[in-house]
Amino acid sequence: MAKLYFRYGAMNSGKSTAMLQAAFNYEERGHAVLIAKPAVDTKGDMGILSRLGFSRKADFIISPESDAYAVFQRLREEVIRKTGADVKCLLLDEAQFLTEAQVDDLLRIALLEDVPVITYGIRTDFQTVAFPGSRRLLEVSHSIEELKTICRCGRKAIFNARKLQDRYIFSGEQVAIDGVAVTYESLCGTCYLTESNGVLNAGRRQWPVAYTFEPDPDFT
Ligand SMILES: [Zn+2]
Repeated sequence: MAKLYFRYGAMNSGKSTAMLQAAFNYEERGHAVLIAKPAVDTKGDMGILSRLGFSRKADFIISPESDAYAVFQRLREEVIRKTGADVKCLLLDEAQFLTEAQVDDLLRIALLEDVPVITYGIRTDFQTVAFPGSRRLLEVSHSIEELKTICRCGRKAIFNARKLQDRYIFSGEQVAIDGVAVTYESLCGTCYLTESNGVLNAGRRQWPVAYTFEPDPDFT
């Protein structure tokens, strides 16, 4: 039985690089793979861009209305017809932008089609709240693995702070991908709280317990 994998990390943790490496490893051994990404990512249209400079075209784009299972089946048959070889793995970049139903489809592909599905994505948005696709992946994946990156202070980064020019901003839409002035910086929890003045989730969720944020005295 094949499995569904979720490899998550903050921005700039090398997710696209890791995915392209995984594709290379399969293909080096003569195995066919399919690479997909959700349509909402506008960074490179069909392209998968690695910050190390590698790039590659996705085999298919999944729009919010796409039947991911049906598209996969059709492309798998096409690969078999053209090459005589079966698809050994489905790789998916920017998985946070999938719908929850599409994540369920990925699980069905692994279980019913017996093809491993390896997804790469960001766990939470700039307000520290899970993307719907990532939340579903955390719920149903067989294997969850963190790809690590480092905060400006040297700790492990776990959050993605949004910046407008040089200022951190904590309000706005969930998706604003690399717009004209918007950028992201991976931060550890302590640095995020320092910049947000102790606020997590931007007030989107109300907790019953009040708290007061005291900056870490050891933090410089
Ligand atoms: Zn930090």
